[in-house]
Amino acid sequence: MLTSVRAGHLTVRGISVAGVYTSLHVPELDVLLDCGIALRSCAGAGTLLLSHGHADHAGALAALLGIRALNNQKRPLRVVMPIEIVDDVKLALQAMSALQRWPLEIDAIGVAPGDEVALKGDLHVRALKTYHPVPSLAYVFFRRVSKLKPEHAGMSGADIAARRKAGDRSIFEEVEQVELAYATDTLVQVLDREPALAAARVLMMECTFLDERKSLDAARAGCHVHLDELIERAEAITNPHVVLMHLSQIYRPDEVRGILDRRLPASLAQRVIAFTPTTHEWPG
Ligand SMILES: [Zn+2]
Ligand SMILES: [Zn+2]
Repeated sequence: MLTSVRAGHLTVRGISVAGVYTSLHVPELDVLLDCGIALRSCAGAGTLLLSHGHADHAGALAALLGIRALNNQKRPLRVVMPIEIVDDVKLALQAMSALQRWPLEIDAIGVAPGDEVALKGDLHVRALKTYHPVPSLAYVFFRRVSKLKPEHAGMSGADIAARRKAGDRSIFEEVEQVELAYATDTLVQVLDREPALAAARVLMMECTFLDERKSLDAARAGCHVHLDELIERAEAITNPHVVLMHLSQIYRPDEVRGILDRRLPASLAQRVIAFTPTTHEWPG
């Protein structure tokens, strides 16, 4: 069964176990994040974004395309991914197409840090640099919205409406409202170097290791985040909702919440959602 959590205005559904598989669906944004396992009920999403090419994040792409074909979805799935892996992903799909005697096609969009792609409606995504042994990216999903400039904060609603009606845009400025930031399979430095992550209404981030069962050095050697590193940065993590995913199976799902509550400062613990199943076991 899939795990489903509510993080503010967003729902996150799917499966995430470090090194095994990560596939997440955010229906409000119509996006799939990574494809380590093909999720039958989420196969209709408009865009898949791959953080990197490791098999636990990209290995089930052919199976996902198979489900879409079964559902009679004719339009090739749009797949946003690090530009360095586009050719390899296409080669892998060619091999699977040959095996199946059936073409598996995608609309591949290779991106580099800083690149933007327009998604559904006014939603956009921007790629950010992450720190992993293979080409990898984080993604921030944002809308450009018009907001009153801070110097006009005291203006009455009637005045604002009158200015707007008169076509006076000078009291407004365009700002980016970051709906979601997704950063997995990375050193924690991404938090220090990418202020867009801190601006997100929902930060979804890996926290592969939680306590002394894995040392900080070992976590860093694998280019993964350890809870010790989030504790160090607790004051800087101001997002209203923080979803921690990509947890290691060395922890039981039903002990994760207790570890987070014991180790994190209360002000952060109460904003953190552990992406774990409600069972005693990880799925699969
Ligand atoms: Zn991973
Ligand atoms: Zn990885």
